[in-house]
Amino acid sequence: MGRQYHFSSGRVCGLFLFVSHMQNILSFLTSLRCHIILIGIFTLVSFDCLFSSLSLSFLIAGHVLLGAVAMEDHGSTYLQLFVDETCLFNRIVLGSLLPTKIWDPLPHFFQTWLRNYIGGVLVYFISGFLWCFYIYYWKRNVYVPKDAIPSNKAMLLQIYVSMKAMPWYTALPTISEYMVENGWTKCFPRISDVGWLPYILYLVIYVIIVEFGIYWMHRELHDIKPLYKHLHATHHIYNKQNTLSPFAGLAFHPLDGILQAVPHVTALFLVPTHFMTHILLLFIEGIWTANIHDCIHGNLWPVMGAGYHTIHHTTYRHNYGHYTIWMDWIFGTLRNPLDEESKDI
Ligand SMILES: [Zn+2]
Ligand SMILES: [Zn+2]
Repeated sequence: MGRQYHFSSGRVCGLFLFVSHMQNILSFLTSLRCHIILIGIFTLVSFDCLFSSLSLSFLIAGHVLLGAVAMEDHGSTYLQLFVDETCLFNRIVLGSLLPTKIWDPLPHFFQTWLRNYIGGVLVYFISGFLWCFYIYYWKRNVYVPKDAIPSNKAMLLQIYVSMKAMPWYTALPTISEYMVENGWTKCFPRISDVGWLPYILYLVIYVIIVEFGIYWMHRELHDIKPLYKHLHATHHIYNKQNTLSPFAGLAFHPLDGILQAVPHVTALFLVPTHFMTHILLLFIEGIWTANIHDCIHGNLWPVMGAGYHTIHHTTYRHNYGHYTIWMDWIFGTLRNPLDEESKDI
């Protein structure tokens, strides 16, 4: 005869309490993550509302005081200014490097992609080679101890991974430029459209959004295990000082690199952004990422230099931030290289 289970009302009650208890624990755990995400969304939306109203005030003030051009005048003439700008960038880069008959017949979108691709490759190699030459040869043994210089093999592998991903990385700014040209974002083409003070304020907010976005994107790429395993682990194979080099700066799985650059595009929808400044910030991004992988700790507060990022590559759980240490400080994941050194002593 099979074993029989008898459920008394007390047991049923107990079971019910256990299940509801488990539910409470689970909902508490999920609410922790949701909480942080909600705070993020709330912050972004608040910023959006705050700066939309601010921009409106500035706009009205601009109209009254200076007779400035209306930012929301997204008519075709206004949007043509963005197209003129991207065409100019295309002509400068492609025109000086390729015969006209190769790039001129291409549709505008592909011209833009080709310009971004060539620009990305040039930034990567010029900044990488110059920086490697300076720290490994010119200032040999000054910044990097001889035994910590990465092997040529390690650097070649980093170049290989970066070059494989570059055509995909550069699709993101190409798509964002397309969205700007079509008036889907809050971009403006001339600083005079808003004035210098709002321009600086918007820029500060843009950088805060990028800092916040990249911090959480990077942290989730570690915390969500499948994302780490299939995407971010590609970047973390360089986890010792003598394997990290400026060339590791763009050595990511293509999707990983794109995800970490997405906050730059998201910001365009949240805060009015000067278009050329956005392009310049992406350009600086390429140089910055090479710089934080050279293992040389600059110790310039609040900059998150290579000292911090080397700790990220060795502990995996600290210093997810990007330009500054503030996001790690706010969310409790900051680890200072100077504390590490004093511990070693
Ligand atoms: Zn990481
Ligand atoms: Zn890294």
